[in-house]
Amino acid sequence: MSTVGQTKTATGRFAPSPTGPLHYGSLLAAVASFLNIRAQNGTWLVRIDDLDPPREMDGAANDILHTLEGFGLHWDRDVVYQSRRLRVYEEVLQNLQRKELIYPCSCSRRDIVNRGESVYAGHCRNNYKAGQRFAVRIKVPVKTLSWVDLIQGPQSASLSQDYGDFIVRRADGLHAYHLAVVLDDANQGITESIRGADLLPSTSAQIYLQQVLDITPPQYAHIPVAVNSFGEKLSKQSGAAPVSMRDPARTLFKTLFDLGQNPPQELESSNIGDILHWGEKHWSLKNVPKGKTL
Ligand code: GLU
Ligand code: ZN
Repeated sequence: MSTVGQTKTATGRFAPSPTGPLHYGSLLAAVASFLNIRAQNGTWLVRIDDLDPPREMDGAANDILHTLEGFGLHWDRDVVYQSRRLRVYEEVLQNLQRKELIYPCSCSRRDIVNRGESVYAGHCRNNYKAGQRFAVRIKVPVKTLSWVDLIQGPQSASLSQDYGDFIVRRADGLHAYHLAVVLDDANQGITESIRGADLLPSTSAQIYLQQVLDITPPQYAHIPVAVNSFGEKLSKQSGAAPVSMRDPARTLFKTLFDLGQNPPQELESSNIGDILHWGEKHWSLKNVPKGKTL
């Protein structure tokens, strides 16, 4: 419980989706959030964002957890699995429904394109035709949201222009990422969300949900994402190789280097414990490169 005059313990998390083994770009996010929290004597958590079974790979969650341990990235509480929290998401949707903030939408992607809309323009706010399959959308206001990203600096975005009324539960019944991440970060007491810059555009939708749900937003910090030689973000889709466990110390050293922390060369031949220790002691969010890609 935090009371006036007390500051909350810095709490951070790494929240991978178990779509495949950990690749280097995700390791960077894990190391950045870990060091940033350890440097403040805070609590570091791991959450498995397993909301979307069709995209997931058997065994990937355990594989990711083993890899994190192999790099000495130990978490402080039990791992949370989003798949076990569906009831909570559903209750919150019912609450939003009572407040008439969400509505069913039976438009297909094609309907939206055929109407010439680049973002969903709110058709079913007034014209919903009951269908068998419907998504649930949240009404977004016409206003600009502004916030400061701890790495990327001041940001502003217009939800109505960028997203339109966005989906909080998909037509296949799966809960949307924005909804789950906001509820889970709040439930886990996350004060700092450090993640890849590919998620920077998601932040406005998440801040809006926090406003509607009366949740204090964490501070956001988006690190540059690792890209392959074609400039594509490392991901399962772009065929990124799993992080190799052959020489974890070297790889860890490279993450510090890529995160702009200027590790001394001799650290490269140390063990992972020493490298992490150096990283905690010298961690500076200010030194993380500001671009969207490395
Ligand atoms: N699970 C999301 C992903 O792997 C990240 C969630 C987040 O950091 O907000 O892309
Ligand atoms: Zn619709």
